[in-house]
Amino acid sequence: RGKRAFIAGIADDNGYGWAIAKSLAAAGAEILIGTWVPALNIFETNLRRGKFDESRTLPDGSLMEITKVYPLDAVYDNPEDVPEDVKMNKRYAGSSNWTVREVAESVKQDFGSIDILVHSLANGPEVSKPLLETSRNGYLAAISASSGASISLTYIASERIIPGYGGGMSSAKAALESDTQVLAFEAGRKHKIRVNTISAGPLGSRAAKAIGFIDMMIDYSLANAPLQKELSADEVGNTAAFLVSPLASAITGAVVYVDNGLNAMGVGV
Ligand code: NAD
Repeated sequence: RGKRAFIAGIADDNGYGWAIAKSLAAAGAEILIGTWVPALNIFETNLRRGKFDESRTLPDGSLMEITKVYPLDAVYDNPEDVPEDVKMNKRYAGSSNWTVREVAESVKQDFGSIDILVHSLANGPEVSKPLLETSRNGYLAAISASSGASISLTYIASERIIPGYGGGMSSAKAALESDTQVLAFEAGRKHKIRVNTISAGPLGSRAAKAIGFIDMMIDYSLANAPLQKELSADEVGNTAAFLVSPLASAITGAVVYVDNGLNAMGVGV
């Protein structure tokens, strides 16, 4: 059979997760998706109504098939961890089995196993606040939603100063990159699983628009990166497909930049 991939963090057709799903589907993988519980309804409705049909089109003209969409909130491992107000929230009450452990169990029941895990989600409630003004809760929330994985998406704010990428998101990405290395060792030794992360350039996704300065970052990259073109989500999707494929069989613990080379610049020009 073809490979089976679970991609966590898709709720529309604009972000990196969607592009990664498409690249994997084009390479023959079966696609399972984890969608944030509050966004599930609108995503499934749009999917059913054909709103994504144009962007679901693969290079061979067929439409990407999504075998199953699971509700997911990556901040909670078990039902016991979910606070009352979230349980009672009407955007959550309509769904069930959406904590990380329950989703893993459901996938196991439905399909037995997966071959590829993609973490393409982040949430920094205080991302628009400087780190200096970030609350403990905001900081911990950013770390909780935004680190841990098998292939994941990171951002250069982990290692260089990017003013405006606040709320502990820079810290979350630093944790993610460190975890990528340690997990590559542990999962590699124990299960022969490879763990990598893509450090992506700026993309005007839904999540990025919440930060508030994404258009400025896109313009900055266009002006300063070695490759002067807008970064497309597909370029990140294709790299992800490569990294999870046998072509990358010796690559693990790596941070791979897909940013038109911007990371290599020392000064703006
Ligand atoms: P996106 O909005 O398409 O994806 C983020 C997803 O995370 C959304 O679907 C959202 O519903 C989901 N999500 C948030 N909290 C969640 C939770 N608790 N449980 C489950 N899902 C949750 O935006 P994107 O920019 O494509 O983000 C994907 C990844 O790429 C993120 O890790 C982001 O930090 C990273 N990234 C983005 C950029 C950029 O410029 N857009 C640059 C570098 C890295």
